[in-house]
Amino acid sequence: MVKLLVKSGGEKALGHWRECFRAADPRLDVHFWDDPAVRPEEVDYVVVWEPQPGRLAKLPNLRVVFSSAAGVDHITCDPAWPRHLPLVRMGGEGTAQRMGEYVVWACLSLLREMRHFALGQAVAEWRHKEARFDASMRRVGIMGLGNLGRRAAEMLRGVGFPVQGWSRSRKDLPGVRSFAGAAELPAFLASTDMLVCLLPSTPETAGLIDARLLSQLPCGAELVNAGRGSHLVVPDLLAALDSGHLAGAVLDVFEEEPLPPASPLWAHPGVTITPHVASMSSRSERARYIADAIAAFEAGRPLPNLYEPERGY
Ligand code: NAP
Repeated sequence: MVKLLVKSGGEKALGHWRECFRAADPRLDVHFWDDPAVRPEEVDYVVVWEPQPGRLAKLPNLRVVFSSAAGVDHITCDPAWPRHLPLVRMGGEGTAQRMGEYVVWACLSLLREMRHFALGQAVAEWRHKEARFDASMRRVGIMGLGNLGRRAAEMLRGVGFPVQGWSRSRKDLPGVRSFAGAAELPAFLASTDMLVCLLPSTPETAGLIDARLLSQLPCGAELVNAGRGSHLVVPDLLAALDSGHLAGAVLDVFEEEPLPPASPLWAHPGVTITPHVASMSSRSERARYIADAIAAFEAGRPLPNLYEPERGY
């Protein structure tokens, strides 16, 4: 039997994880992360969210680390994480589809000024307002054209938004103008009405969305952040909204989660908040993805979606 430890969703989720892994590959012997009956040397694989610092390093025969989410910063922030082992980021169809749906929803919600109507509904007020734009009039710029950004770009084009993207390397995606590297960031920003952030959390992307970046967007631009909270400098966003330079924002991720009740973001009339739910693939999809990856690894085939320490994602 291949032994797999799970730390995702707490101990109460173990029964469901077992059920999902049994359906995906019955050879997997699935245990909770803190199961006292499992000796550290028996563990072959782990699926983790926010493992306690130093714990992964204590599993001497571990072969692969699976992140239960697409981001891996919750693992690599551990100074002792085992760098010599493959680290697999969650991926697959379901994750990209759900993120695409979220980004389309967020852009349509900004386009149709849903925050204005939600505030009216909260006080039973008929706040009639005509839409100022249709999708063809708002250029969406996606920062990060990886697994998630590419799918979001395709889906946004499907509802009529002109779409462009910014990434480290140049892309060739149908109908999507590609900007690459720091040198092309200003031109990308100057031609973006709705900025969507789907970047990974790395030292280079930390604090990237600050006053300087926001000032390069056209007046009346809007922001969707579904990457990581570390990308956004919140006081700079609030200042840009309050000055009228930015017209609105949809935020799914925050530096501190849950977002503290005292945060000025909660009540801001220009901000829509969702609690880090943009793309959560189901446990059965994740179990299938991990079981397939383990089967590939054991057969000597390459692992999918590997984290590369030298590029930071
Ligand atoms: P990915 O496939 O690794 O794609 C990352 C993209 O960002 C790539 O296009 C990459 O450029 C670009 N990039 C990285 N560093 C850059 C830099 N310094 N300058 C310009 N472009 C840069 O990642 P993914 O699977 O799409 O996921 C992206 C992020 O979404 C995750 O890391 C996670 O933080 C977030 N996420 C959020 C949720 C949620 O529910 N809110 C769910 C899942 C994921 P290249 O293509 O040139 O390499």
